Amino acid sequence: MKENKILIVDDEESICSLYAEAFTKKGYAVSTAASAEDGLDILKNENFQVMFLDLNLPGMSGVELCKQIREEGSTAKIYAVTGYSSLYGVAECKKVGFDEIFTKPVKLEVLFKAADDAFGKKEADGSRGR
Ligand SMILES: [Mg+2]
Repeated sequence: MKENKILIVDDEESICSLYAEAFTKKGYAVSTAASAEDGLDILKNENFQVMFLDLNLPGMSGVELCKQIREEGSTAKIYAVTGYSSLYGVAECKKVGFDEIFTKPVKLEVLFKAADDAFGKKEADGSRGR
């Protein structure tokens, strides 16, 4: 069975573990990274169909991270999850390739729906291959 893989990048450990536990319970395969740089390292070896990226990270920002992931050709659903939405405008986020922006605190149900929709869409779209 194909794994539905989600990558979570957030420098708050509590957020990573909360999301990881919640999505794992839902049956997803979850990887977490505490920085954009660590996220990119993980992406060298693995593909993810869905990513939730914090924008305010030490070092490289989530905006830069998304931009780089898109430049490398990823067609994943990439969502921004941020408490600092005012630092980065929605237009800027969309420009670098985010599919949607969620502002913390965000209900887990909202993230579940985003992931379920993303995977549902991919499956309905299956003829495009991977
Ligand atoms: Mg942060």
